[in-house]
Amino acid sequence: CGIIGIIGIQDVSDRLVDGLKRLEYRGYDSAGIATLVDSGIDRRRAEGKLVNLENVLSDSPLAGITGIGHTRWATHGVPSENNAHPHMTDETAIVHNGIIENFQELRDELAKKGRTFDSDTDTEVVAHLVHAYLDEGLSPEEAVAKMLPKVEGAFAFVMIFRGQHDLMIGARRGSPLAIGYGEGEMYFGSDAMALAPLTRKICYMEEGDWAVLTREGAKVMDTAGNVVDRPVVQTAVSG
Ligand code: GLU
Repeated sequence: CGIIGIIGIQDVSDRLVDGLKRLEYRGYDSAGIATLVDSGIDRRRAEGKLVNLENVLSDSPLAGITGIGHTRWATHGVPSENNAHPHMTDETAIVHNGIIENFQELRDELAKKGRTFDSDTDTEVVAHLVHAYLDEGLSPEEAVAKMLPKVEGAFAFVMIFRGQHDLMIGARRGSPLAIGYGEGEMYFGSDAMALAPLTRKICYMEEGDWAVLTREGAKVMDTAGNVVDRPVVQTAVSG
């Protein structure tokens, strides 16, 4: 339902939760964040209000300067901590808005190859599919490029990758997603509202676009994989 992503120059956990608070107005049943940590990817999730996630985080803080956050409005799988995003494998974590229509057939294929699933969501299949492509030796960007034509539905998502502290990939198909430009930092947000305290310099991705972010900036591509120029605008949304 609500998405935020930060490639930061300082810890992101608090700022991810702040961004999620600004997305509360959209409604949600659970929330979570994931960051890149020394040992890989770590996450904290909680059912219910953001205060529950904040309590989990105060008992068990999450370090990391690259991370993603989500408020979930369940479509597949009951509202629960286990079905809350981010969903992850050892290699990648994802937050996702919308629906992956063909998740069951993708899931069956991946299960046949020995992959096991921890949630009942449509989302988790995307993490496993990208992980499978990484295992084939593809780079994260190549793996996402190969995954995108395989998934059907209306969605937006943002992914991070183990050990890749200067990388975040997001895609927009049927659900909004914006890129924010900071001072040495870059952001993804499902709307400008989530990003308002971080930056007012926003690029609204267009239908079918996907983008590779590093701290240097964003490379935006269309469905065919061609690099495209999208305007960066100054939003009026106040932080
Ligand atoms: N379909 C996903 C789920 O049920 C995402 C729902 C959302 O947009 O929050 O987990």
